[in-house]
Amino acid sequence: MKIEIQGLNKIYPNGNHALKDINLEFGTGMFGLLGPNGAGKSSLMRIMVTLMKPSSGLVLVDGMDIQKHRKELRKVLGYLPQDFRFFTSLKTWEFLDYSGSLAGLKNRRERLTEVDRLLDQVGLLEVRDRQANRLSGGMKRRLGIAQALIGNPRIIVVDEPTTGLDPDERIRFRNILSQLTQHDVTIILSTHIVGDISSTCQGMALLNKGELVFSGSPENLVKNAEGHVFKLNLNPYEYERVKERYNVISTIPVESGWEVQIVSDDVPEYASTSIIPNIEHAYVYFMEHKLQADITD
Ligand code: ADP
Repeated sequence: MKIEIQGLNKIYPNGNHALKDINLEFGTGMFGLLGPNGAGKSSLMRIMVTLMKPSSGLVLVDGMDIQKHRKELRKVLGYLPQDFRFFTSLKTWEFLDYSGSLAGLKNRRERLTEVDRLLDQVGLLEVRDRQANRLSGGMKRRLGIAQALIGNPRIIVVDEPTTGLDPDERIRFRNILSQLTQHDVTIILSTHIVGDISSTCQGMALLNKGELVFSGSPENLVKNAEGHVFKLNLNPYEYERVKERYNVISTIPVESGWEVQIVSDDVPEYASTSIIPNIEHAYVYFMEHKLQADITD
């Protein structure tokens, strides 16, 4: 499925300009939307699932304007909201069964088979009879993805799914998502955690303060940071100066002082070696670079 976002703006009634002229295009596979808190990710997600209208601009799914075809969109959509909660005394399987009927699965026998298939897929089959609100945080989130998947959606939108999960659960969640990419679906994953964006994402976008600062592949993001990440060995005096001038990504104490990594547009004036960037370096570089470009514009 092809998703096109054209000239999208969201201005809230209080004047907050949460999305500023966003243009994006992506297709089947996993698409990662990365940005710090307040960047506008949830606003974009809510518009994409037609829970909120944009102030201007369009979202097209296979050429179809989602605002004009909300019913059709919702039939092919699965959504895990950021604040997924349920106040229910239903058992885990009952909750999913209920979600299935909402998603239009009318045949009870088929629905129950699907419920157990999905519980198995997200590793909750063993706790199928436990009350859903008694599940652990990570399990609840996995039940959240199961309810987003029921009804065989073609587009799956997950908003900050790994926030608050411990590392084990985060990895588990990521694996569930990447397994989904084997099917012919479009997954939109919004996150402020750089580690959630992996090579499983064919495409990604970086949002900052409502602006799109990058779109492309994760490899491309990293490539853009090449030659801009440096390692320096500094005495305590130099360290203080460097901290003031550069964006320090990591600091490790060594015998002579500190070994630090920085991102910088120019080669620093202290003895340094250029290092191969990873995605975290690239993220910091991009955010900083864009900010500096804005200042000098
Ligand atoms: P993110 O999901 O990246 O944290 P959001 O889309 O939640 O970002 O928020 C983007 C901006 O819009 C923030 O400045 C936030 O305070 C503002 N915002 C979000 N929701 C509302 C709202 N209902 N009314 C006014 N401002 C809002």
